[in-house]
Amino acid sequence: MPSTVVILGGAYGGLHVAHYLLKYSKDVKVILVSKNSHFFWNLASVRAIVPGTFEDSKLYVDLVAALSHYPQERSEVVVGSADAVDTDKKTVDVSINGSEKRTISYDHLVLATGARCTLPEKKTDTDAVPLAPWKADGTFEEYKALLAQTQEKVKAAKHIVVVGAGSTGIEAAAELGSAYGKGADAKKIVLLSSSAQILSGDSVVGPSALNELQKLNVEVKTSSAVTAARTLEDGRIELTVAGSEAPIVTDLYLASVGLTANSEYLDAKYLNEHKYINVDDFYRVSGVADNNVWAIGDVVSKPRAGFMITQKQAAGVGKNIDLVLNAKAPTPVKLLPVDILAVATGPSRGVGRMSSFRLPSLMVWLAKGRTLGTNMLPSYLNGSVA
Ligand SMILES: Cc1cc2nc3c(=O)[nH]c(=O)nc-3n(C[C@H](O)[C@H](O)[C@H](O)COP(=O)(O)OP(=O)(O)OC[C@H]3O[C@@H](n4cnc5c(N)ncnc54)[C@H](O)[C@@H]3O)c2cc1C
Repeated sequence: MPSTVVILGGAYGGLHVAHYLLKYSKDVKVILVSKNSHFFWNLASVRAIVPGTFEDSKLYVDLVAALSHYPQERSEVVVGSADAVDTDKKTVDVSINGSEKRTISYDHLVLATGARCTLPEKKTDTDAVPLAPWKADGTFEEYKALLAQTQEKVKAAKHIVVVGAGSTGIEAAAELGSAYGKGADAKKIVLLSSSAQILSGDSVVGPSALNELQKLNVEVKTSSAVTAARTLEDGRIELTVAGSEAPIVTDLYLASVGLTANSEYLDAKYLNEHKYINVDDFYRVSGVADNNVWAIGDVVSKPRAGFMITQKQAAGVGKNIDLVLNAKAPTPVKLLPVDILAVATGPSRGVGRMSSFRLPSLMVWLAKGRTLGTNMLPSYLNGSVA
């Protein structure tokens, strides 16, 4: 009997582990459970909000097609939401189409459900909730509808506010500035930062990013936290901003103000105070008696959330599961030797650093801004990522 490895989450982390095990581990059946029938290349979302920038084939990979290279009996894709994990019974409860329930047993379980964009709660009818199409939370159809809605609003808007000046907010504002910041039909693009600086005060990359944004005619307002947002009768949105006497009225309110771990299906005893999953150096979930539950990627966010970090963790956990299944000891997962931060500032430039050394714009553009990594998407379809 092959061992069953159930993987929750079919994105950078989960799909990578699936390929690893199906390629290198001989006696394993992989069941990939994902809310989304397609892996979405979310790194490109900041540019994809501008209509006409990417074809679907650059953004999405069908999970069934991605696993179709392997013998049929060795893999299964279940499109559904993991609702509960029982680490004693070694089962996962999955809801499919919101109504059908299925309980899946595992020998090993990999948690790779990532994190979603944090959004303010809508408390009254007039409260305005921002659009945040930076992560696929929900089904494939729901995400595609959200992106299409955002593109339509971007096209129609004359005034756009992006709230949150971390990497995602900066990249989105820069893409909008590049596409619409100049010319007769220019749109007004505003980026709001709640703190006194942008990019969490990163002293190497922050000032260069600010400079790039200004060149793209993006107005950057620091110390400007949004305290309330309401939809006006004409459909525009009024933002109340701390430190600003008059509210800002805008056609489109986009936000990137943080992430929330997708970990609700797991017992709280395995989570830290911020609801991220606790893991050891092997990326096993701490406290699981059988040492057969693993977690990677943004749902762990250790040492931080990042695609390249997720890749290392996925390769490390794939290898560790294979070792354990062959009665060998797992090894600590090796991460990146240096911290790299790369921020695309539109399709033709970028800012970044390796440790504390500033990277030239050309290098960031070549490594990231040119394609936003979409050139790597085929490796998740054909399996060469693993
Ligand atoms: C705009 C943007 C740009 C970025 N750029 C960079 C960059 O340049 N470099 C870098 O290193 N990192 C970057 N990142 C971070 C990178 O996107 C994340 O680190 C990466 O997405 C983590 O992948 P993941 O597989 O852990 O999770 P996710 O990508 O969050 O995917 C999780 C998957 O699990 C599914 N899921 C969630 N809950 C359940 C459930 N209960 N049951 C079943 N399925 C579920 C979700 O639908 C999703 O498909 C960027 C992030 C954003 C938002």
